[in-house]
Amino acid sequence: MYGGVAGASGRPLPLCQFRSQVAVLKTFALLQTLTENANPFPWLRHLNTLTIDMRLQITVALLLTATTVTNSQPESFKSGHAPEYSVAAAESADSAQPYLAQLKSELSELRDAALADDYAYRQVAHLTDNIGPRASGTAQAQAAVQYVADELRKLGLEVRLEEVKIPHWMRGIETAALIEYPGQVEGTSQKIVLTALGGNTPTSPDGITAEIVVVRSFDELKALGREKVAGKIVLFNVPFDKLKAANGMAGEAYGEAVAYRGTGAKAAAELGAVASLVRSVGNADYRLPHTGWSAPAGIPAGAVTSEDADLMGRLAAQGKVRMRLTLTSQTGPEVVSYNVVADLKGSEHPEQVVIVSGHLDSWDLGTGAIDDAAGVAVAMETAELAQRLHLHPKRTIRVIAWMDEENGGRGHDVYAKAHEAELGNYVAAIESDTGAAHPFGFQAKVNPKTLALLKPVQDVLQSFGANVIRLTDRSPGADIEPLAKAGVPALGIMQDARTYFNYHHTAADTLDKIVPQELRENAAAMAVMGYALANLPERLPR
Ligand SMILES: [Zn+2]
Ligand SMILES: [Zn+2]
Repeated sequence: MYGGVAGASGRPLPLCQFRSQVAVLKTFALLQTLTENANPFPWLRHLNTLTIDMRLQITVALLLTATTVTNSQPESFKSGHAPEYSVAAAESADSAQPYLAQLKSELSELRDAALADDYAYRQVAHLTDNIGPRASGTAQAQAAVQYVADELRKLGLEVRLEEVKIPHWMRGIETAALIEYPGQVEGTSQKIVLTALGGNTPTSPDGITAEIVVVRSFDELKALGREKVAGKIVLFNVPFDKLKAANGMAGEAYGEAVAYRGTGAKAAAELGAVASLVRSVGNADYRLPHTGWSAPAGIPAGAVTSEDADLMGRLAAQGKVRMRLTLTSQTGPEVVSYNVVADLKGSEHPEQVVIVSGHLDSWDLGTGAIDDAAGVAVAMETAELAQRLHLHPKRTIRVIAWMDEENGGRGHDVYAKAHEAELGNYVAAIESDTGAAHPFGFQAKVNPKTLALLKPVQDVLQSFGANVIRLTDRSPGADIEPLAKAGVPALGIMQDARTYFNYHHTAADTLDKIVPQELRENAAAMAVMGYALANLPERLPR
């Protein structure tokens, strides 16, 4: 399938051979011309006496010398800093045309196959419905590792389980009630809907009781000072910016609000608070709490629903509000888990790697369909499609199902450390971790010169609207961030995220949120970009 040009035997000729035969003919023709006409090079003055066979041998020898010189160029030269000014690059751009046409036809084939099948959906369904929630350190996370590894082995990939030690965090009792507030009817209390955050320090089984202090920013907390915060439960009531999310800036809206979930407890603890609550970082108001990671702060940390945050904000503005809070999570001993790493070896440059990835762990409240079984599934489908269509990547396509993205990110940290020495060979790392809705294209932390090289990929993705490449200066995925920091070009599928944060990290992140046709589009985007980066004539510049 690889070459589309007929060789002398009538069988398709590999494109690399086709290109070198064209070069032989060109050089031979040049020698012929020099021989038959006035020869300007004194060192070639004996050409007239050579037979055609001898000229052909000289041609081959000259080409072999030229190839050796090109291959011995320093890595910085090969990786794209100089070629655009060189004659060699101009000739290779010229000879790349038939190669690129062939590559585009293969990419179109991948796209069309992805848009017509349900491989990724079947993977998401098994991971979510059959295995279930896959929180770090649980039996389900371990089963998911085995399942994905087995599936990738069935596809014929070289599969390794790379060890990651992770703490096993277990959710416990999570209840809260307002037991004192302005206008309270005697003998009653108000239930508060909340969930513990990863990193939570438990309360005693009986819970704690304290007054609530509501703030809308870190600055407001600081302004209150220790005197007004010590001994209290701090509530960070910072709304998620729904208008931004509705207008394609869900990532920005999330980033602004999630700062309070991540480090709010630490800031509150520093001023002597006895617990920290955050308004759920989410986009829908169905009184669902959104969990997530919070930096361990030595005090209990939870997320209340947006409705309950508003309620407490209103009541606290009227007078004193006291809460009874029980959050009894536990952290068990370290557990050995794994990143699943599976290679579809490159036929020409096996040492050069293109990563396609998603994270295998999820939160425990839902079954982690959009976060991030979908990402793992579309990465798996890249390999499945290439194998099914007998398309052989020149560089290695490496499928990674990351472990522990949600509760500390140990999987990607361990990977980056273990593979540090080879990162110079990595062509790119792609991750899908913003759901499974329609993809518009990719966020890319890459050298801007990359855009010209990706034009053929955009052409193929345009038919279903996934052709936007948006440059970013931040890693477009958490798991590929250490690689991006080390200089590896990093890309993330850019989904329509208008509803992603409605369900993100809630009990409602379940299989029914996946629209099969949109998941197929994601599989197509991942497969086309992954295969293209493994087969473009030049590596992406750094
Ligand atoms: Zn995720
Ligand atoms: Zn997540």
